[in-house]
Amino acid sequence: MSDIIQLLPDHVANQIAAGEVVQRPASVVKELLENAIDAKATSIKLIVKEAGKTLIQVIDNGAGMSVTDARLSFERHATSKIRTADDLFQLETKGFRGEALASIAAIAHVVLKTRQDADEVGTEIKIEGSTLVSQEVCVTATGTSISVKNLFYNIPARRNFLKSNTVELRHIIDEFHRVAMVHPAIKFSMHHNDSEVFQLLDTNLRKRIVTIFGGKTNEKLVPIQEKTDVVSIEGFIGKPEFAKRTRGEQFFFVNDRFIKSPYLNHAVTAAFEGLLKDKAYPSYFIYLQVDPKSIDINIHPTKTEIKFDDEHSIYAMLRSTIKHSLGQFSVAPVLDFNKDASMDTPYDYKNKEAVPPKITVDRNFNPFADEAKQTASGSNSGMPRTSFQKEKPKQWESLYTGLSANKEETTNDFSSVIFEKTEITSSLFENETQKVFDANTTYQLRRKYIVSTIKSGMLIVHQNRAHQRIVYEELLQNITLATGISQQLLFPLQLSFSAQDVALLITVQEQLEHSGFIFDSITEEQVSISGIPTTATESEVQVLLEQVIYDLERDIPNSGFSQTDILIQSMAKSIAVKTGVILGPEEQQDMVHRLFACTEPNVTPDHKSTFVTLAIDEIDKKF
Ligand code: ADP
Ligand code: MG
Repeated sequence: MSDIIQLLPDHVANQIAAGEVVQRPASVVKELLENAIDAKATSIKLIVKEAGKTLIQVIDNGAGMSVTDARLSFERHATSKIRTADDLFQLETKGFRGEALASIAAIAHVVLKTRQDADEVGTEIKIEGSTLVSQEVCVTATGTSISVKNLFYNIPARRNFLKSNTVELRHIIDEFHRVAMVHPAIKFSMHHNDSEVFQLLDTNLRKRIVTIFGGKTNEKLVPIQEKTDVVSIEGFIGKPEFAKRTRGEQFFFVNDRFIKSPYLNHAVTAAFEGLLKDKAYPSYFIYLQVDPKSIDINIHPTKTEIKFDDEHSIYAMLRSTIKHSLGQFSVAPVLDFNKDASMDTPYDYKNKEAVPPKITVDRNFNPFADEAKQTASGSNSGMPRTSFQKEKPKQWESLYTGLSANKEETTNDFSSVIFEKTEITSSLFENETQKVFDANTTYQLRRKYIVSTIKSGMLIVHQNRAHQRIVYEELLQNITLATGISQQLLFPLQLSFSAQDVALLITVQEQLEHSGFIFDSITEEQVSISGIPTTATESEVQVLLEQVIYDLERDIPNSGFSQTDILIQSMAKSIAVKTGVILGPEEQQDMVHRLFACTEPNVTPDHKSTFVTLAIDEIDKKF
């Protein structure tokens, strides 16, 4: 038989490599920004159109390239950053594999313009699908500009696989942040569809983080610092009370490179142990410097995973450094998530000075004197017996009247909310003529399920999922009919978000208002809310909106679901009673009734079963 193995042509090899390096527009952004930094640029401009699908351009004022280098830069394995295999273990640059430009040029229309400072003219090269279209002399500023148009134009499957512009843009912004956060001394700007998204001036680390994540971030940060032979640790952790419901703000950088590390994340979480509410994620911005010889970056094409020689020591040091900082900034003792709200100082008393209790000493007091005499010595005897007796101050209760009235309105006790639809319409019970279940015999199992009897046997309802369905339908009705009822807040809530998050909230402002939100004002980073949907409680609102933002950014598929649907699903998830919550008999019954009053009681909005039934003969069979 003749030989059948052939070497792949370059353009095919490049396309295959591109599959690994370029997953989406954001991957191109990352590679181009990193190249600009490696070229020692001090000012970098990123321009994108349609979330990078039509254009990604990076302009830097770095070293630029000679004519020959400009041509060579698009060859695979062409790099100026390493020469020998040993260099792999002393990396000082972001790139080293020499395949980014070759990969990008294989799957897009690329124009490179570059000039070195000493040269009078620059070079312009056009490449489409690995084919050189033109190479010319050009007039251009010192540095390099690379524009990448029509990404994946020759791989329709990949192009179709791209998510909506909101999602792709989020990925691009994430990459932009990851690079900008390690280089505060470099100026960065970003434009999307001709409007400026970011303008980051050269500054220090803390200010860069605050500029990116919003003005309010500053007060949430606690610095961390430690230096040992193995690792030097620097950066900030977010105070526990500002922990988020989503993993949004968690960053590790090793030798100025953003990396993902579940292992180190565990170290951080361990340091926060006992300080966080369930399902809360602390923010962190942690910068580690280690000897380049002690890590291997070359284990993943996108270089976001690395291997440490001495993982265990780094884990231990990171954990203790964070614990130390949390303690030092006395973050720990002031926390008491489970405290009883009734023990809070009433508002009126907050700003008043504490008056020390007056001690009166009865100098005539004689413990050996008889009882009668003691009583006779009167009320200023100084004996603890009388002073311990609880007296109920009369004005005390009146202090609370204003507040408690409000409390009743905002309570999440859904049994107090009156619903119009109580008729049972579910098809499950269609052929049952009598009352479908015995509302008096519900039972809560493991704080998770509500068990009840139905004519055919037994009904088991998942409390969290059932409530998701209930809240979802209610919100859907409110939003589509624009009839959302609001509960007015006594004091408007002032919530802060990053500028992009606010921009995203504005896109769904109308729907939020229909669901019951009342916005007093929305500025670049501040949202003031004076009314919220009756289904939500005040304390949930921040988390609820964070969840909405998170879901909108990441979950919108290309078509199919509307933004409204995502919004309501997200709100329903946030608001629904969680597993672990004890429900009283009335609440259990109310939940079951309301579930079966829904138009689609069988499943949650994301199609998970809300209940199961067990027929009596199935039960019989088990005996
Ligand atoms: P790598 O970054 O791994 O070396 P790339 O394909 O990203 O590989 O780039 C190839 C080479 O092109 C780089 O090694 C560098 O010499 C040159 N290059 C790329 N981008 C720039 C830029 N913005 N400024 C100067 N040189 C660049
Ligand atoms: Mg590179």
